[in-house]
Amino acid sequence: MCGIIGYAGKENAVPIIVDGLKKLEYRGYDSAGIAIYGVDGFDVVKQKGRLAALEARLVDRTITGCLGLGHTRWATHGEPSDENSHPHLGSKNKIAIVHNGIIENYKRLKERLEQKGVRFASQTDSEVIAQLAENYYNGDLLDTVIHVMNTLEGSYAMGIMCIDDPDTIIAVKKDNPLIIGVSEHGNFMASDVPAILKHTNKVYYLNDKEIAVLKKDSVQFYNIDKESLEKSLETITWSLDSAEKGGYPHFMLKEITEQPKIIQDTIQSALKSGENKTIIDNINIKSFNKIVITACGSAYNAGVVAKYVFEKLCRISVEVELASEFRYKDAIIDEKTLVILISQSGETADTIAAMREAKSKGAVTLSIVNVVGSTIAKETDFCLYTAAGPEIAVATTKAFSAQLVLLYILAVNFAAKLEKIPQETERMLLAEITILPDKVSNILEHVPYIQMYASSCIGYKSVFFLGRNIDYAIALEGSLKLKEISYIHSEAYAGGELKHGPISLVENDTLVVAISNCGRLNEKITSNVEQVISRGAKVLIIGNRTDIQQNEKLSLISIPEIYELFSPSLSVIVLQLFSYYVAANKGLDIDKPRNLAKSVTVE
Ligand code: GLU
Repeated sequence: MCGIIGYAGKENAVPIIVDGLKKLEYRGYDSAGIAIYGVDGFDVVKQKGRLAALEARLVDRTITGCLGLGHTRWATHGEPSDENSHPHLGSKNKIAIVHNGIIENYKRLKERLEQKGVRFASQTDSEVIAQLAENYYNGDLLDTVIHVMNTLEGSYAMGIMCIDDPDTIIAVKKDNPLIIGVSEHGNFMASDVPAILKHTNKVYYLNDKEIAVLKKDSVQFYNIDKESLEKSLETITWSLDSAEKGGYPHFMLKEITEQPKIIQDTIQSALKSGENKTIIDNINIKSFNKIVITACGSAYNAGVVAKYVFEKLCRISVEVELASEFRYKDAIIDEKTLVILISQSGETADTIAAMREAKSKGAVTLSIVNVVGSTIAKETDFCLYTAAGPEIAVATTKAFSAQLVLLYILAVNFAAKLEKIPQETERMLLAEITILPDKVSNILEHVPYIQMYASSCIGYKSVFFLGRNIDYAIALEGSLKLKEISYIHSEAYAGGELKHGPISLVENDTLVVAISNCGRLNEKITSNVEQVISRGAKVLIIGNRTDIQQNEKLSLISIPEIYELFSPSLSVIVLQLFSYYVAANKGLDIDKPRNLAKSVTVE
């Protein structure tokens, strides 16, 4: 995970790199560091803790230099500590590196280098890159980097500087994201676009095993055989504002609030005009006999929602698999299977592996991704982009909502192509999708009530989320959101499962959140609610119910009427706000919850 940035330019690299790290902090935040090529060689400052701790260390240091690297870490090997923070130097202080990923053969390489007398200063896997580069260094940095790449096993995005080359950063990647930005005053490497958006919206996407050589006024690309490469410069359409908090206390609240527009833009791209529409129209769903959806975290929950929608509308069999399980299970799929991969970042390590597994078995792959040019976007047969813009809060909200709406549109399109719904139903369903942004705005008007309810819930130790059918699917996301940011234990169950175990955990200090939008199952969920209330629980119902008598044990947050299968898009807004305000009332670091990072690019 972790975020890396490098700058080779005409301006002082320190503020540029620190500012870029602030935009990458969502990727890792247990320690941070910078290495600047200054007048006396490398100036390295590294600090355990949040970026603010590094900034505090930098206040009384006068470091300047126009070439530098920065890193914000999410430790995989070696505890978070000053020594284990990046950048890492070789023991001769000749090479400095920052690394995102895992070097799988680091132990073997470290032993070999130690036998040669190299002394390691950290417990990380990453330090081996710097030591190895120094060991191979023959006066030509590019040759050295290629030699290092040929030796390393595992995943990496990295930036490398050499003391003999005061003008150069070399950037390379394999299985982890890296972009190269070009601006008037200098050139950049970074894990993600927001880190450099202030300076440029012109980027090159680096492919695996490609090499970029950055100088202040040039960028050259090579393959691993040292042959020169021509790459095309892309323009990013994300606005600078989209990566700023814009007056909100947290990115998460800003991103929740942006959802009507995000859903609207996503609908526009998939129904009215834009590439998504062309891609959806080109998928020949008749050539498949099953759909497999695979993803991790919230994207997996979007897949569970989609299973209900696809199966009901298209009458096609859908399996939903966690990508981390799918990749190792020897899945029964072939060229008649459509495998849908969902990932905000397009760089989720398990989802990438699942995609490659699906392709190797001949399945056709379709991705739903937010980050343009990401690995999953590039490698799948079809890619639909969610128009969510940069999502900075670790807990996803707007990207999830955009995934849902694309999945609904796909389902309606497939159902029509498969002739499972008449034209009239297709029109009705599309009208219901089109009205979603207004209904989401309507929920956002009720923030004060949700905030007030959430403020009374901070003392709970355990929260259960219940639902049936499509409500169960979205209960999974409600539970994940709450535990991610509020650190309250929570579980989601299908209502019918309650009596098969979970009810034994219900007692006086238990909160049960019941989602209830499935007309024909409302009575069943009401029975579940009664069962838990009679065992001491308090219940919050989220749904379009008009028959609920609220009392001190039972509360209701109403959501507007919508076609039942699309109701998760409305329930989830309440669930997101509920989690947000519980966490906010507990005074937690909502955008950067402990131990989590946004894009999980390591296994
Ligand atoms: N493996 C490296 C470390 O532990 C980089 C971590 C990462 O990319 O998340 O320092």
